[in-house]
Amino acid sequence: ATPAATMVGTTIGAQNGVLFKGGDILERARDVDTVVFDKTGTLTEGEMELTDVVAFDSEGNAVADGGEPAADGGQLAERDKRSEDEVLRLAATAESGSEHPLARAIVDGAKERGIDVGEPDEFENVPGQGIRATVEGREPRSGSERASGERGDPRAVEVLVGNRKLLQDNGIDTDPAAETMEELEREGKTAMLVAVDGALAGIVADADTIKPSAKDAVAALQERGVDVMMITGDNEHTARAVAEQVGIDPDNVRAGVLPEDKSDAVEAIQSEGRKAMMVGDGVNDAPALAVAYVGTAIGSGTDVAIEAADVTLMRDDPLDVVKAIRISDATLQKIK
Ligand code: ADP
Ligand code: MG
Repeated sequence: ATPAATMVGTTIGAQNGVLFKGGDILERARDVDTVVFDKTGTLTEGEMELTDVVAFDSEGNAVADGGEPAADGGQLAERDKRSEDEVLRLAATAESGSEHPLARAIVDGAKERGIDVGEPDEFENVPGQGIRATVEGREPRSGSERASGERGDPRAVEVLVGNRKLLQDNGIDTDPAAETMEELEREGKTAMLVAVDGALAGIVADADTIKPSAKDAVAALQERGVDVMMITGDNEHTARAVAEQVGIDPDNVRAGVLPEDKSDAVEAIQSEGRKAMMVGDGVNDAPALAVAYVGTAIGSGTDVAIEAADVTLMRDDPLDVVKAIRISDATLQKIK
């Protein structure tokens, strides 16, 4: 493009909240044949809400709130039961150490349910998998708890909250939770396993909201002949449920991708000769934005993502991906 056309394109972009990091990027955007969206915070709002809490007894059966067996009568020993409230208290206290949106939702949800959320004694992040924390146990608080002889956990316990891999890597059998996990995930929720002192204790699930324009953005790109893909650290079931809602082909979903593997995944896509635009919002996405033919940071994205990106979309609107490509089109058409 002529310097004048580039200047016009850059200006029109800026007026529309689409910032190109230089004229060559402006020229490249129109050649993009594949758009790879990050899921959380990019296609979805990234504002999670706690939706479900499940407690398991030591046999891996779900118990209803208050520590009663869910369905199958009273064969379970009283001491084997940890109530949903106690699972949530342990998970939320452990997650108080994390800034992750999944963690914020668990903490806020617990507080809304009137649960006494503390701070963990020790805390460790396991990127792309979850967290590990040491949480102070508690003495029985209420009169009814004392009367029933429930003692809570007076000692400090080790709590894990995260995905299947986190628990499996710690030698915990996740099979008893498999069915409930899948059920929640097929609803598009992110279900997280909770383990206490090396044993499966329950599940907490968060749900996210899909951005209102995500579906239209995907459709507009597909109409142009652009292949639309999704990449996420989230699991296959949740990822596919979200993909379905926004119109992305299930075959185009790359799920369970660890943060450090996102850029490899984009490189693998590009090794087939594609020109990929990666669209992401998080610190996790920065390396993938950097290797993409065009890296696009969206919305209130982190500084790290914006730094790594070629294009920044100031608004939190996936339709601006289409706008970026159209501005590129318009800029180059003028000089023909
Ligand atoms: P995304 O790529 O969707 O932004 P992440 O890479 O941050 O997701 O996390 C991938 C998965 O790891 C999550 O779906 C969740 O199962 C688990 N996870 C990450 N952080 C946490 C946390 N603080 N608590 C529980 N689980 C977590
Ligand atoms: Mg994200």
